[in-house]
Amino acid sequence: MNSAHPDTLRANAKLAAELDFADRRDFEDAERGFIATLPEAHIDADAGGVSWTMKSYGFLSGDAPETVNPSLWRMSQLNAVHGLFEVVERVYQVRGFSLANVTFIEGDTGVIVVDPLQFTEHARGAIQLYRKHRGDRPVVAVIYTHSHRDHYGGVRGVISEADVDRGVPVIAPFGFTEESFSESILAGVPMRRRALFQFGWSLEPGPMAHVDSGLGKAVGRGGDGFIAPTWLIKQPVERHSIDGVEIAFHLTPGTEAPANMNMHYPGLGVLNLAETACHTMHNLCPLRGAKTRDALAWARYLDEALDAFVPQAEAMIVQHHWPVWGTDRIREYVGGQRDLYRYLHDQTLRLMSHGLTPKEIADQLMMPTELSRKWFARGYYGAVAHNVAAVYAHYLGPYDGNPANLNPLPPQAAAERYVQYMGGSDAVLRRAREDYDAGNFRWIVEVLNHVVFAEPTNRAARDLAADAMEQLGYQAESATWRNSYLLAARELRSTSSASTPRGVSISPDVVAVLPLGSFLEYLGIRVDGTKAQAFSARFDWRLTDGAKVDAQRLTLSNGALNHLPGSHGDAADAIVETTREQLSKLSAGRSALLAGIDAGDIRITGNKALFRRFVELLDEFDPMFNVVEP
Ligand SMILES: [Zn+2]
Repeated sequence: MNSAHPDTLRANAKLAAELDFADRRDFEDAERGFIATLPEAHIDADAGGVSWTMKSYGFLSGDAPETVNPSLWRMSQLNAVHGLFEVVERVYQVRGFSLANVTFIEGDTGVIVVDPLQFTEHARGAIQLYRKHRGDRPVVAVIYTHSHRDHYGGVRGVISEADVDRGVPVIAPFGFTEESFSESILAGVPMRRRALFQFGWSLEPGPMAHVDSGLGKAVGRGGDGFIAPTWLIKQPVERHSIDGVEIAFHLTPGTEAPANMNMHYPGLGVLNLAETACHTMHNLCPLRGAKTRDALAWARYLDEALDAFVPQAEAMIVQHHWPVWGTDRIREYVGGQRDLYRYLHDQTLRLMSHGLTPKEIADQLMMPTELSRKWFARGYYGAVAHNVAAVYAHYLGPYDGNPANLNPLPPQAAAERYVQYMGGSDAVLRRAREDYDAGNFRWIVEVLNHVVFAEPTNRAARDLAADAMEQLGYQAESATWRNSYLLAARELRSTSSASTPRGVSISPDVVAVLPLGSFLEYLGIRVDGTKAQAFSARFDWRLTDGAKVDAQRLTLSNGALNHLPGSHGDAADAIVETTREQLSKLSAGRSALLAGIDAGDIRITGNKALFRRFVELLDEFDPMFNVVEP
C-alpha cells in the first residue's frame, strides 16, 4: 500500500474546502437520545469468532488522514456511533450494531420490531440491550420494510416460529418473499462476488483500507435466517392499529427495493422512511448489481410522504443512519431527497435526449450547487456516475446505441490487440508511469486493465494498476467506490483471489419456505446448456412438505429446463420425490444431488439412469471468479 499521492492530497483538500465541516448538527442528532450501549458494540458470533465490533474502528477520530476522502471520513465517524437511542417517547432505535438500524415501537402490551437487522446475533444483541433498559416487553409484531437481507436476516434473534404460530404477525410489503429470493438465489453467485467489492468485507479496518460502507459501518457475520411474512401490505396506503399503535403503511415499490414500504405513526408524530431517504445519495443500481431502480417513482413517493405525512411529523427515522427532528427540518430534508432523485432522473433523460451516452452524461451532469452542499445529498453509498448509468439502463438497457459498441471483442481478445497496437506492454507501462506521476489515475486503470487482461502475469502492470486503484480509493467519497478500488488493488497485488470461504448453497431457512418452482428455477440456471442441448427428458418432481405435496412437471429440451405445475402422467420418464428437509442439502448443486440419489434421499421411480444423467449436466460455480483479471 502506498501513501497519498500529491494529486490525492490536492483533490481531498479541495473537497474539504467546499463543504461545511463546521455544521455539526448530524453529530448532535446521531447522539441525541442516547441511553446505553455495549462496550465497542462487540457481539460474538454463535459459530465462534466475532459477529460485530467497533473495536477495530477506534482509529476513526480526529481529522481525516491523507488516505481518506474527508467527507467520507466524516460519515465514517457518524456511522461509528452505536447504542440504544430514544427517538421520541415509545420509539427507540439500536444503531451501529449491524449495517442497518432496528426500530422498537412500544405498543400497549409489547414491542413492535421494525427491521431485525442482518444477522441473528446482531438482532439478539439489540433486543437484549433494549429490554435491559426498557423492560422485558414481548415482541407483538415484526415489520420488514423491504426485501433486502440487512433488514430481515436477523429475525431469529427477536422471534421464533413458535411466536409466529401463537399469532405474532410478520408484516411486509407485497412481493416481499419473491423479491428477496429473486435477488439472493437466481443472481446470488455473481451478486455475492460483486458485493465483496462494494462492502470491502475482506479489507482490514484502517485508514488505508476499510473505513465504512456508506449506509453503516460494515456487514458483519453471523446466523442468517428467514421467517416468511404472514401479513402482506397490498394497498397504496393501509392504516392499521397494531398493539394500540396506529400505522399508515405507504407502499413504495420500485424504489430502494422492488418490494418496499414506508410508515407513518401519526399518534407518535414519527415518520419512518425506511431506506428511501437515508443521509446519503442512494444507489439507483448498487455496485453489487440489482434490477435498476425507478428514480421517478422514488421521487414521487417522497413527494407523497412530504405532502401527506411530513406536516404531522415531529421526528423522522430511517432504517440506516440517524433521525431528524422538527417538522421544518424534516420538510427540508425530505424535499431535498425528493429533488435529488427527481433531478438525477430528469437531467439524465434531458441529456439522453441530446444523444449523450452514460459516460458523457456522468461527465457533464452537475448536481445543483446548494443541494449538493447538503450532507444528506452527498454520495456515500451511491454516486452520480452510476446513478446516471442506472437511469439510462432503466429506460434504454445496457447498449449505448453506437453500433461500434454493438459487438465488441471480449475483454481479453481486445486487450491483446490494444497492447499490440500501443507498441507492447513495456511501452504502455512507460507512459502509464508518467501518467501516474501526473495523477491521471482514471486513465491509468483503464489502460492498464488492457495490459493485465493481455498479460495477467505482468507483475509491473498489476502493481502500477494497483497503485492507481489505491489513489482512486483514497479520493473516493463513496464508501462503495473506495472499497471496490481497494479490493481491486489487493487482488491485483496478490496472485490469487481466493480469500473467502467457498460453497454456494441456499440458506436452510430460505429453502424451508421456498416453493418447488423457485427451486427448479435455481436448478435451471445450473443446466450446462451446451452439454444439455442433445438431451430431452420429462420428469415429474414431487415435493412433500408434511401433508402438502407440491407437484411440478419438468421438461428439458434444447438445453432449457421448463416447469409447470402438475404431472406428465404416463409420459414422464421418471418421477422424483423429495421432502422439504432434503431440499436444503440438495441445493448445494451437482455433487450434493448425486450424493442424494446414492443415499436414497431422492426417491426415483422410472428411468433412474436418465435422471442421473440430467443431474450430471448441472454446472458448478466458483464463487470467487476473477474480476480484475481474465
Ligand atoms: Zn439496507
